[in-house]
Amino acid sequence: MQAAVLERRGPAGLVLRDFPVPQPAEGEALIRVHAVGLNRVDLYMRDVGVGITHALPQVQGVEGAGIVAHAPPGSGLRVGQKAVLYSVAFCGRCRYCLAGDQPLCLHASIIGEHRHGTLAEYVALPARCVLPLPDDADLQAAGALMTGHLTAWRMLFGKRPLRMGETLLVVGIGGGVAVATLQLALRAGARVIVTSSSDEKIARAVAMGANAGINYGREKVAERVLQLTGGEGVDMVVDSVGEKSWADSLRSLRRGGRIVTCGATTGSNPPVELQRMFIRQLEVYGSTGGSMEEFRQLVALFAQGALSPVIDSRFPLARVNEAFGRLQRGEQFGKVLVTIP
Ligand SMILES: [Zn+2]
Repeated sequence: MQAAVLERRGPAGLVLRDFPVPQPAEGEALIRVHAVGLNRVDLYMRDVGVGITHALPQVQGVEGAGIVAHAPPGSGLRVGQKAVLYSVAFCGRCRYCLAGDQPLCLHASIIGEHRHGTLAEYVALPARCVLPLPDDADLQAAGALMTGHLTAWRMLFGKRPLRMGETLLVVGIGGGVAVATLQLALRAGARVIVTSSSDEKIARAVAMGANAGINYGREKVAERVLQLTGGEGVDMVVDSVGEKSWADSLRSLRRGGRIVTCGATTGSNPPVELQRMFIRQLEVYGSTGGSMEEFRQLVALFAQGALSPVIDSRFPLARVNEAFGRLQRGEQFGKVLVTIP
């Protein structure tokens, strides 16, 4: 089969070539992949990969949707059925899995990170990680659903759920997670302020329903947030940017407000400002991915036609390196998609 295979670190190390079709192990399904959303973690895997246990060569791609090509007996899956993949092959036995908290699984293996991924004609993974879709589902949109929207879902509705009427600040609109966060927060009845260095991206977010945008290239974010919230600050900040934005994110919060982080693109050690945190009783917590149950809820909303990822651009598998380039330059608004027709 054709596959985007990481042979060595760095942009030149991602090679489109023939690769053996994976042989599903006991309990695993085989999926004919149709569409794959790209994510920043794909760039990290390609160029750095530190801290992730795996061996090269490896097929990249951490999310996707396609058609069931092999269904293990008793799985409830049917060959020929459309399906979307839950990227984390969780063990199902550890204390976190048993508590329904699969993103914390002690033995998790993520496709495209610890095992062969979706940027290929076929991928194998445990049948419990395959969620069927209705026959009329858009497989391309489904291929870009998991990483951005599930991450956003858990951040917004997981630990400290966003409430109707609350004000949310989304730092750095444009990336897949930030755009998904905007979509879900608006659906939940929140007021949303976004930041970007691009007026064009702010305009797109406002056209989608964001209530205000702040260009951090020329405006002081925290000052502007206070103006927009009557001097009070926002209830919640979603920040995946890290060091560069952190001080503004802390200063944009109302008393008792909360920041949730799911990434640290610009560095992971900003000043903590303990004094500000305890005096104003702020909360900071982390999030990554989402549970199987959160994914089921998200997929149900998608299957009803109530939600669909914003697709920035589509590239066939043969042009996978161009797709990585677009993501790396940060030009996208929404998801960069690779299709495998
Ligand atoms: Zn587990």
